[in-house]
Amino acid sequence: MSAPGSSEPGWLKSGLDHVWLPYAQMKTAAPPLPVAASQGARLTLSDGRVLIDGIASWWTACHGYNHPHIAQAVREQLERMPHVMFGGLAHEPAYRLASRLAALLPGDLERVFFTESGSVAVEVAMKMAVQYWMNRGVKGRTKILSFRGGYHGDTFATMAVCDPEEGMHAKFAGVLAPQIIGDLPRGEAEFASLCALIEAHTHELAAILVEPRVQGAGGMVFHGDDVLRALRQLADEFGLLLIFDEIFTGFGRTGAMFACAASGVTPDIITLSKALTGGTSPLAATVARRHVFEAFWSDDADKALMHGPTFMGHALACAAANASLDLFETEPRMAQVAHIAARLEAGLAPCRALPGVRDVRVMGAVGVVELECMPKGLQAAFIEKGVWIRPFRNVVYLTPAFVISNAELDQLTGAIVEVLGATLRA
Ligand SMILES: *Cc1c(COP(=O)(O)O)cnc(C)c1O
Repeated sequence: MSAPGSSEPGWLKSGLDHVWLPYAQMKTAAPPLPVAASQGARLTLSDGRVLIDGIASWWTACHGYNHPHIAQAVREQLERMPHVMFGGLAHEPAYRLASRLAALLPGDLERVFFTESGSVAVEVAMKMAVQYWMNRGVKGRTKILSFRGGYHGDTFATMAVCDPEEGMHAKFAGVLAPQIIGDLPRGEAEFASLCALIEAHTHELAAILVEPRVQGAGGMVFHGDDVLRALRQLADEFGLLLIFDEIFTGFGRTGAMFACAASGVTPDIITLSKALTGGTSPLAATVARRHVFEAFWSDDADKALMHGPTFMGHALACAAANASLDLFETEPRMAQVAHIAARLEAGLAPCRALPGVRDVRVMGAVGVVELECMPKGLQAAFIEKGVWIRPFRNVVYLTPAFVISNAELDQLTGAIVEVLGATLRA
């Protein structure tokens, strides 16, 4: 790192007194790095240093930064019409995007509600599930069953369905609406206890909510598709809706366009965001199956879904999302993800031999090194090596852009092996 104050831009110095940073004890945390430009899998800092981005800005920038096709689509939309309100007015980018998402998703997941962030998309899914039962005249089905290790957002409704202890929200426990939290059914015993938990709460449950395949921000923990099939079976048996939060896994991250289709399980509602616009703009979608939508379709105005964010279906964001979907059709993204998976496996394998490494795992373009405990100073050491990797809790992970080059990817895995080697052996 450059000496403090040497080449820091003025806006950073003066702005730091006014910006409230995310997930940070600002008194003790290192200040954020000023980024001047992005391109592909690289970030250029204000002082000219270039970092290879290992996490694609919270796994959003799946095509790399500044993809010309997305930039062109957004530029054209900006000239024509940045945005118009979604209530009473319609615009082509959102309507085309809704049709395309419906065509891409399995089964009759065909009714798209747009929002601007992942947390709100999950809240809308929860609201749909609860009102689904109300509209059908079933009383008391107001709770959501979610899972330990899960992460679904930072708003009050979503905090309540995150992991109750590990989540970043434990201190709000008394403030949150109580929900039912279980363990993922990874084996016979867990399946039996989850079954018992659901049986005890069926009368008050509206839906089961899960991140399929990867519990992302909760610790990058994987589970098999058999777990998802078991959840579908339980939801059907007890007459609950099944919600997949694919905000992390959607758009190729686990090696398939969507985890739901790949696992052969069609949820009743799915949430999407993060890579939806290729990391260009905030946008999220909650997509419901036909039978869910039909519970709201009525002559009774009271049965309507009363929700509508100001920037719902933002036209620039939808233009970016359409361009992002074009790229999944015209560029070999899934082959790139398979290639990244193999290279992550090989590149991270040496970490297995290090003391204090609990697990090394890869699924698609997600590579994880789980440690016994997180040593201090990793972040700074990674920056020294020219890579942007942001360890959290006890995991060091990579979720790179799918267009990353072999050399860039090797630099990322090499930096992890070297930095962890030096730190854990010290
Ligand atoms: C990031 C994330 C969210 C929350 O999305 P925001 O846009 O940060 O509100 C919800 N669920 C999952 C699985 C996520 O990865």
